[in-house]
Amino acid sequence: MEPLEKLQQHLKKLPGLGYRSAERIALHLLVEHPERLGELVAALEEAARTVHRCGRCGNLAEGELCAICLDSRRNQRAVCVVEHVPDLVALERSGAWRGAYHVLHGRLSPVHGIGPAELNLAPLFARIARGEVDELILALANDVEGEATCHYVTEQLPPGGAVKVSRIGFGLPSGGGVLYADAVTLKSALDGRRRYD
Ligand SMILES: [Zn+2]
Repeated sequence: MEPLEKLQQHLKKLPGLGYRSAERIALHLLVEHPERLGELVAALEEAARTVHRCGRCGNLAEGELCAICLDSRRNQRAVCVVEHVPDLVALERSGAWRGAYHVLHGRLSPVHGIGPAELNLAPLFARIARGEVDELILALANDVEGEATCHYVTEQLPPGGAVKVSRIGFGLPSGGGVLYADAVTLKSALDGRRRYD
């Protein structure tokens, strides 16, 4: 395969890039601005080497824990559970949440072969078992799979109600998740969160 075509094939797999944009970017890097290709390669290599998942919450981290888990000014005992890192980024951008997070890296989806073992659930349940969590806010997509995931997480909690659980998503655009909501919507959804059981 020609280098141009090969690069284009890889770019096309990235979210948000169709055939035309992949072609434009590949031409830009290989033909018009080859010096930018080297910079991009270096940045990709550095990111691949230094960035990984936070051992506690699943966010991106450079050390063992991410900046949010290390921030003592945040309420580390209130944990907002999201599907993906971009959801966390959207919540952070809105400024609506000053607690901690847990990123599942997906949601339950039997049709796509995604069961509990495929999700980043174990570190969350370990935090709960250590008594480090008072409140869980389930900020998952407002659809059947999001609901099934909320149900599963709730079922695994220790009995006795030591962990308060609430759910946001009802006020968010139908079918959309946290990522697609604006700051005001996110804030009112968090403020208006209601007990989930
Ligand atoms: Zn973290």
